[in-house]
Amino acid sequence: MWRSGDRDWVISARCRGVDTAMFFPQVENGRGAAVRAERQAKEVCRACPVIVECLDHAVRTGETHGVWGGMNHAERRAYERATKLRRLRSA
Ligand code: SF4
Repeated sequence: MWRSGDRDWVISARCRGVDTAMFFPQVENGRGAAVRAERQAKEVCRACPVIVECLDHAVRTGETHGVWGGMNHAERRAYERATKLRRLRSA
């Protein structure tokens, strides 16, 4: 999700100008609505030219909310663990 004040890559973010609510689904609005919103956000991310940079930013800064780089928080944590494991195995 694009936020002002970030680095140069955000200029190319596909989510610029898109309703940001889908990137931060609220379960208070209903589980089904939250799942649909997250799916829509990930669809935007899939065609984003800076998905790698966005995911890297979210992992490095420990973003705990929202869809970044096409992943929700739980998926980013799993990605981070897998990345660390790969590094350990190749060291
Ligand atoms: S990957 Fe998704 S959240 Fe990140 S900049 Fe692109 S569209 Fe926005």
